[in-house]
Amino acid sequence: MIRQLSKVSIGIIAVIVLFAVISITFLLRMSSDMSSASSEFVCHYKVVNYPTPNIDPDSTNKVLGVILHHTAEPTAESALKILSSPEKKVGTHVVIDTDGTRYVMAEPTVVAYHAGYSILNGLEGCNYFTIGIEFQGNTLKAPLTEEQIESGTEYLIPIINTYNIPLENIVTHQMIRNAYKEKYPNKRCSGKVDITQTEYQRFMNHLRKIMTANND
Ligand SMILES: [Zn+2]
Repeated sequence: MIRQLSKVSIGIIAVIVLFAVISITFLLRMSSDMSSASSEFVCHYKVVNYPTPNIDPDSTNKVLGVILHHTAEPTAESALKILSSPEKKVGTHVVIDTDGTRYVMAEPTVVAYHAGYSILNGLEGCNYFTIGIEFQGNTLKAPLTEEQIESGTEYLIPIINTYNIPLENIVTHQMIRNAYKEKYPNKRCSGKVDITQTEYQRFMNHLRKIMTANND
């Protein structure tokens, strides 16, 4: 009888221990999932929706690359006005103000008119396969702010991960325009710095640093 009882109680204890181990493992996994999710997806900068009509409603963006621009406008407000004016026919996916606030003008799959005459990796018409980021300001006169670099990184990383964009396909407007001018030297196409190579490298260094840290 005692032997039988102890067998039963050992069985019960074994079941309780097993149950406890399973629930603790489950809880630990859940909390680590939650903490990694919150550290990756917490949004630090203000995001404002500001849709632009300057898009091609009949096409879908292939999202193969990203083009970095500066607005060369005195304020984000004046830039947003131009980028949403139907007469101007220029748009972008996001404008990033000097305080890091992001004005989202189009979703990544939308074709927005930001690239003009352009070639990236031999492909013409970059509007149809790239995302446009407009940093408020003029990088010839002042560097990007830390907030702009951080906010731009925060905006881009989920897009890079979703569409598997290679970092080599993140370039400046000047780079894709120069590629076009090289192929068509006789075509009229004005050249300008947009954005400077120095600010481009600063942005890319930060982006690489954050992406490496996230992968560790
Ligand atoms: Zn540009």
